[in-house]
Amino acid sequence: MTEPSAEGDELLQRLRQFQSDYFPDHQQRFQDLVAHGQHPKTLFIGCSDSRLVPYLLTGAGPGELFIVRNVGAFVPPYDGSHGLHGTTAAIEFAVLSLKVEHIIVCGHTHCGAIRAAYEGAPEEAVNLHNWLQLANEALLPVQTSPEALYRTEQRSVVLQLERLLQYPMVRRRIEAGDLHLHGWHYVIEDGQIHVFDAQLGRFVPASQAGHSGNEPILPPSILM
Ligand SMILES: [Zn+2]
Repeated sequence: MTEPSAEGDELLQRLRQFQSDYFPDHQQRFQDLVAHGQHPKTLFIGCSDSRLVPYLLTGAGPGELFIVRNVGAFVPPYDGSHGLHGTTAAIEFAVLSLKVEHIIVCGHTHCGAIRAAYEGAPEEAVNLHNWLQLANEALLPVQTSPEALYRTEQRSVVLQLERLLQYPMVRRRIEAGDLHLHGWHYVIEDGQIHVFDAQLGRFVPASQAGHSGNEPILPPSILM
């Protein structure tokens, strides 16, 4: 049995290229981040989809985004009904320890999670099946179509923002003016984010928007 050659190992080649080609020009930045710790201002909750590239979309570099990604960019309810969950833990850490000033929820067009929420997941994927229920309230009672999926992707982003408002530490910091929520829908084919504008009640292309999105307006009774 022969050892696999390094030349044929694409991942290994890319690891070496990072250190030899990219790192030398950015070494100081990384070492500062080690010496002084990370102080990202933004928590980015995004779908795991490979076509969604948070650093490219936001122009962010090392140390600027605290990222948690999952299938669909869903936010579990705060009540613990979804058991052990990394997304919930990441939100608590980002808000309570890192004291981020922005939380972005970023969905996108052609999202497989939203499609699977309508059409179902493989039978063996019991965890995925349960997870997709976090989109249920965003689903439309219609035949799936490109238009219905697009609208559902946007409705899901707003639904996750609503769930974020149920997190006591999130709500507290928003009310203090220290934290802002942003709902984004990334239209892959146009290279454009559409941002949720609560005053207008709809998503607006970033090229036409007056701001980068804001939190839904909920009646006080829902927030109690
Ligand atoms: Zn997706």
